[in-house]
Amino acid sequence: MATTNGILNGLKVESFDFAETPRSTPEDRRYYKEVLEVLLEDGSVVYNCVWPECEFTRSSASGVWPHTKVHKPQTDTPSKAPAPAEIDVTALTIAELVERAQHATRYRSDRDAALKKLSKAERELGELKPRLRKAEQALKTIRTAFTAAA
Ligand SMILES: [Zn+2]
Repeated sequence: MATTNGILNGLKVESFDFAETPRSTPEDRRYYKEVLEVLLEDGSVVYNCVWPECEFTRSSASGVWPHTKVHKPQTDTPSKAPAPAEIDVTALTIAELVERAQHATRYRSDRDAALKKLSKAERELGELKPRLRKAEQALKTIRTAFTAAA
């Protein structure tokens, strides 16, 4: 949230708590992990992004929720993904973690398949080398024969 100094939208923050989701019931309370319900000094309630230094506010929690994505690393561009050590896993949902694990498994099997192809190509190259040498030798012999005939 924005209020390291206790001020949001120019007003003093009286209190704040995690905002309840639309699925929350009195028997089964559910809260957004990244949206705060903030009571301001003038009695108004705003919903604020939980991330540090972020002043994004809306009049409803569901209005803030889509915004929180901007604080997270992109998951749909593997080539641009940060190194594993840089990923803050605590900021990821279980679904995102599962997705990442699935991606990792797929990359591993892709890599294994590529390594198999590579070793097959190396084997074939090894078999071709002696034949190539023989062919070169034969070509040399033919050239020499032609030169001699000319
Ligand atoms: Zn934010």
